[in-house]
Amino acid sequence: MTSTEFFIPIVHLFYIVCVIQALITCYREEAFDRSNFRNCLLNDVCQEMSGYDIAREYFVSKHIDPSCDPKYMVRRLTHPYLRRCALLWELLKSSSSAPLYDSSNIWEGSHHHLDSSTAEGNSSLAIELDGVRELEHLFQIQPLDLILKDECVHMLALRWSQHFCEDYRSRKYRGILFSTPAVPFRLMQLPPVYQVLLERYVKMQCPDCGSVPDEPALCLLCGKLCSPSWKPCCRAGKCLNHASQCGAGVGIFLLVRKTTILLQRSARLTFWPSLYLDAFGEEDHEMHRGKPLYLSQERYAALTYLGGIS
Ligand SMILES: [Zn+2]
Ligand SMILES: [Zn+2]
Repeated sequence: MTSTEFFIPIVHLFYIVCVIQALITCYREEAFDRSNFRNCLLNDVCQEMSGYDIAREYFVSKHIDPSCDPKYMVRRLTHPYLRRCALLWELLKSSSSAPLYDSSNIWEGSHHHLDSSTAEGNSSLAIELDGVRELEHLFQIQPLDLILKDECVHMLALRWSQHFCEDYRSRKYRGILFSTPAVPFRLMQLPPVYQVLLERYVKMQCPDCGSVPDEPALCLLCGKLCSPSWKPCCRAGKCLNHASQCGAGVGIFLLVRKTTILLQRSARLTFWPSLYLDAFGEEDHEMHRGKPLYLSQERYAALTYLGGIS
């Protein structure tokens, strides 16, 4: 694995799987413009797959942006995969002496470029695509257009999708594949006054079971209402299960009745102080004093920072 001769072909093989998965996920979205792929060999496979109920159940994304160029969208969905490959490669390399490139260090150049482009006010999409392009170059990945027209890839896609359908039907536990681009870590916008948040969420029903949770916990990554493990309203609504889908096991929840934060990392959990303080800068745990509470920008920034590095 530590030699490029073996590593790169493996990256290519699973890159193709990743492209096919991304395409099927895009195709299931009504608003996605498929016409860009009409002449590609992969079009028929993806069209057929995205029509099956089982595939619609499995290939899920809430990040398909119809305003983004369709081919860019597919490449953005391969970004997390390519980043993982780059990380794995770094790890493998750190315990061996075989370099991918003998010459310049590609990572140093990339950071320099990122800095200059943010200063110029370039759009975040352009920066993201630069990142994708850089990794495609690092792993010598062919242009997407060529991959989409490749006979071998087409054969592979046919066999893989057949295998997927057979295997998925017979499975007892049917998971879901969530596709996302490499999105930066961001907490949801919160109202400046706590009362607004409380009124909105304290009587809200769980979107999974329809009951009103005793201990509502708001996911600060996506805004979904959940419930903690000590008072779950249902299995799907549990913070632990939601965190595995929403943040790859990491979850940040606001306990609506307590005002405090619940941090989840797989089965482990811990607490963090309230983001809302009264006019004197003090917390009012479980709102015993009943004074108005205001969003603390410093604490919000501190929690965002904590989430970004976790
Ligand atoms: Zn969430
Ligand atoms: Zn529920």
